[in-house]
This record gives sequence, structure tokens and C-alpha cells, in this order.
Amino acid sequence: MQPLQGKVALVTGAGSGIGRANCVTLASRGATVIVNDIDEAGAHETVTLIRAAGGMAVPCIADVAKSDEVERSFAAAQRETGPVQILVNNAGIPGGMTAFENIDEMAVDRMFSVTVKGAMLCTRAVLPAMKQRCDGRIINTSSITAFGTHPRGCVYAAAKGAIVSLTRAWAREFAPWNILVNAVAPGRVETPMSARLSSDPAYQEEVRRRVPLRRRAVPDEIATVVAFLASADASYMTGQVLSPNGGEVM
Ligand code: NAP
Repeated sequence: MQPLQGKVALVTGAGSGIGRANCVTLASRGATVIVNDIDEAGAHETVTLIRAAGGMAVPCIADVAKSDEVERSFAAAQRETGPVQILVNNAGIPGGMTAFENIDEMAVDRMFSVTVKGAMLCTRAVLPAMKQRCDGRIINTSSITAFGTHPRGCVYAAAKGAIVSLTRAWAREFAPWNILVNAVAPGRVETPMSARLSSDPAYQEEVRRRVPLRRRAVPDEIATVVAFLASADASYMTGQVLSPNGGEVM
């Protein structure tokens, strides 16, 4: 039997990059996957990829920062799949490398709305059913920037730091219901979010200098860690942050 057979997973921001890889990997291990994204075309592409490989997936279009959209679209998707047992809070937006004095207030609001409030709204939407069944996995997406790796980009770093705090707080709060909460904190990953860096020779040199494995990750190398945290193999893991980062942070 496949390790996630019979499980329902919901991945946010799954129309692209790491979120798409999470969906494809979870589906390949037997889960039925609800594919959330704000970008309808991207979400449908992920669904098509999974179905073409023989997996089960349904789209779920919503801005994770809007409670009405989250509640409505999650409920509609779960009418097709049954209740979510695995939630992957992955949706995120790029932070840029702006110096602190030049940071725009609206950019701060949007970063925290999508990253922090978004994870809260999505978790709130699936929590009652997880509590009722005493069964759940929540996997949040932080970043190595939460550990102070970048000289600029403090808004993104602060939001990703808040994700680590949320992970630990929820792990304690939800443990009595056998809901396990962990996070991945990826290092540098080649995705559309970081695409503009691929053609920058200075950035490539920085990767060789700072990352012991001397390369960025591909999204699948994050998705396999997420799939582990979703699986029975991680049944004694909660409140942890796993960081696939090529050795950049040890
Ligand atoms: P990506 O390729 O840009 O994918 C993110 C997806 O989330 C996009 O499809 C995006 O849609 C969607 N999204 C954005 N705002 C949303 C919202 N409000 N509601 C629902 N969906 C939304 O990015 P990625 O590189 O795969 O990043 C995935 C996660 O990993 C993020 O949390 C990111 O911070 C984290 N991460 C990435 C790296 C890296 O090096 N790439 C490293 C560490 C952590 P649009 O394209 O329409 O905005």
C-alpha cells in the first residue's frame, strides 16, 4: 500500500514551484490532493499534472489572506474529497532585498497577510475536523532567512520567523488532539519566485561560496521532506523545523 493512501492533503500556493512539487509528491504517495492557489491557471495546471500521472486532485481557488474565500473554497473542495488530514501552508510572496528605511507599509501588510494571517486562516478552516478525528498534520513553510542569513529583506525574514513561532505554539496547543505541527525552512530553491536570480552571475557565485553543496535545491528536494512530515514515519515529530538548505545553515 502507498504510504499516504486514503489521506486528503491540502497544499496552498500550489500552482507553482515548491507547492506544485509538494502536491505531485503527496499524490504520488497515494494522497488525494486539494490544490489551492490564487492563480487559477496555475492551480489547474497542477491538477492536470497529477491526474495525468494517475493521481487524484481537485482545484481550490482562493487568496489565503481572505477568510471568506478560504472558508468557501475549502468547504467546496472537501465536499468532493472528504476532510483534510494534511495541511501544507506553503503560499508565499517574494520579499525583495529592500533596505529597511525604504520599506513600504503596504508591502509589510501584504507580506504578513499572505504568510502569517494566511497560514492562520487556512489552519482555522481545517482544524475542527482534525480535532474531531484526533488526526492531523500541519506543515508550515518558513525559510532559512528566518535564521538571519540575509543582510536585507527583513520583512520576509520576520514573517518567516513568525511561521517558526506559530509552528511551535500550535504544536503544543494541538498535541492533545494528535495534530502534529512542523515546518520546513528551505534554503535557496530554483522556482519562479527566485527565477530572476538564475541569470545573475553574482548570485550564482554567492551560491557557490555560501552553500556547501554549491547549488540551489530543486522543488522536489523540499517536497520529499514535506512528504516525510506528512507520513507515519514522522509520528513522533512535532514542533520541529526541518531545513533542507544544502548546508548553508547548520
Ligand atoms: P512560487 O513559485 O512563487 O509559488 C508560490 C505560489 O503561491 C504562486 O503560485 C503564487 O501565486 C501563490 N500565492 C501567492 N499569494 C497567494 C495567496 N494570497 N493565496 C494563494 N496563493 C498565493 O514560490 P516558491 O518559491 O515555490 O515558494 C513557495 C514557498 O516556499 C513560499 O512560502 C516561499 O516563501 C517559500 N520559500 C521559497 C524559497 C525559494 O528559494 N524559492 C526558499 C525558502 C522558502 P502568484 O504567482 O499568482 O503570486
